[in-house]
Amino acid sequence: MTGEDIVRLAAYLGLAGEEFRRIYLCGTTPMRFRKQRKKQCPFLLPDGCAVHLAKPLQCSSFPHWPELMSKTGRDEAAEYCPGINRGPHVDLKAAKKTANRVQKSFPELYDEPV
Ligand code: SF4
Repeated sequence: MTGEDIVRLAAYLGLAGEEFRRIYLCGTTPMRFRKQRKKQCPFLLPDGCAVHLAKPLQCSSFPHWPELMSKTGRDEAAEYCPGINRGPHVDLKAAKKTANRVQKSFPELYDEPV
């Protein structure tokens, strides 16, 4: 969760940033959603994402993450995500730009440049 994510999601839900952090987040850098008992994300509903318009960068950028820029990374992700390697081709330059943004937003997670 980036600082921008927290501000955007809190505003979307009509909460103060601190209240949003207290209710929904845990960890330090980066903070992440508290895991729910029977689901991975508090905003995952049977019909989709309850915060789609304000969802975190990690969600809106998927699958254009640095670790998925290689064929090997994409093939591994395709084992759990049925949308990978399907549908219209995506402009590689645009995908790398998104991956760079993710990398810059989470420097503690990535050592190597994309
Ligand atoms: S897109 Fe992100 S915020 Fe929305 S339900 Fe999925 S994991 Fe949660």
